[in-house]
Amino acid sequence: MLQLAKYSFGVGDRFAHQASAQLRAFEQIRRDGVEVIPVWNKSNREHSFIGSEPASVLKAAKQAVEQSGWDLPWHIDADHIRLETVDRFLDSSDFFTIDVADSIGKAPERDHLATFLKNHSELFGTLHIPGIEDPIRISGDGLEIIAEKYLAAAKEAGEIYRHIVHAKGAENIIAEVSMDETDAPQTPQELLVILAALSDEGVSLQTIAPKFTGRFNKGVDYEGNLEQFEKEFNEDLCILAHTSKVYGLPDNLKLSVHSGSDKFSIYPIIQRALHKTGAGLHIKTAGTTWLEELIGLAESGSEGVQCVHEIYAASLDQIDALTGPYASVIDIHRDQLPSLSTVSQWGSKQWANTLRHIPNHPEFNASVRQLLHVSFKLAAKRGNSYLDLLEKHRDIIAKNVYENIYERHMRPLFLRSN
Ligand SMILES: [Zn+2]
Repeated sequence: MLQLAKYSFGVGDRFAHQASAQLRAFEQIRRDGVEVIPVWNKSNREHSFIGSEPASVLKAAKQAVEQSGWDLPWHIDADHIRLETVDRFLDSSDFFTIDVADSIGKAPERDHLATFLKNHSELFGTLHIPGIEDPIRISGDGLEIIAEKYLAAAKEAGEIYRHIVHAKGAENIIAEVSMDETDAPQTPQELLVILAALSDEGVSLQTIAPKFTGRFNKGVDYEGNLEQFEKEFNEDLCILAHTSKVYGLPDNLKLSVHSGSDKFSIYPIIQRALHKTGAGLHIKTAGTTWLEELIGLAESGSEGVQCVHEIYAASLDQIDALTGPYASVIDIHRDQLPSLSTVSQWGSKQWANTLRHIPNHPEFNASVRQLLHVSFKLAAKRGNSYLDLLEKHRDIIAKNVYENIYERHMRPLFLRSN
């Protein structure tokens, strides 16, 4: 098994121009004394929206790594793949995020359910999990209900995992299982049952992405009950430590936080939990970097401002089509979207302040930010004229990309605040 390091951080580079700037953030946090391993992730959905191929992610990352002399591991994540989409990623990825969220709630085969319940009598009743104060209680019916909900998904994860292992060899891959793109969060009890079932399927997963309580909207802060999140996050860590011992899962098994960018209010909670338990973390970000491209372009002068303005105009025009696929991960208040005539007065500063994620800045606008977050397709449509601007204003964009990852994400997550 290819071993994933304790701390890893997923970055997205939609137009394959920011890998060097992103890598500088990893170099800086390493100089601060924390090794965080970069993982470049791109999902099938992003590739299809942009018209890019998985090989381009590897190429851009490799180039950045070679130029910088980065000598720690780095990985390429085939993000949110399924059996029908994984093949095109096999050559250029070593990290696979196996997405089985769509199979949650599908009825398992009767035999599978019966065997699971028979083999897992240890999950009935009162369980004392080290680190969790109140014992976890699962009744016989409760276990059956959870198993019914997740066994088909676990089985499917096994099928996809074996397909990848068959193609690449278990020693060459890192597997993650994701269940985050669903409506209902998973409780610690459910996570326990899911991991037992994944172990039965022989999935050597090193990270799991559950759906946590609260809203993880794209590119903006967490919304939800912070106390509840803290309790569940800490309990999840205990469940992972327990299951890797009891069910023979990899001992570096860790949580993966998807849509993890910009969740500033939970970073201190995560940081405290990691410090207290010694647990590892994978955090996945993507679109936050594309927004820094827009901010850098806005700051670059009139040509860049014009480009941002035109993308915003088109996003207003196509708002239903653009936001539809992301309905469960954005909260845009349409009445807070400024009109075109308003933004036509805006210069560099106002655009940058509107978009940059400094939540208490008076000009920051979370609705504009979320709308543009899901509008990267529109930049892709501009083709070379967009890419040419990225080249031309490379330095100011790189500065924004770097500062966003390092200052607003890595420092609060990985450096102790006191
Ligand atoms: Zn995800």
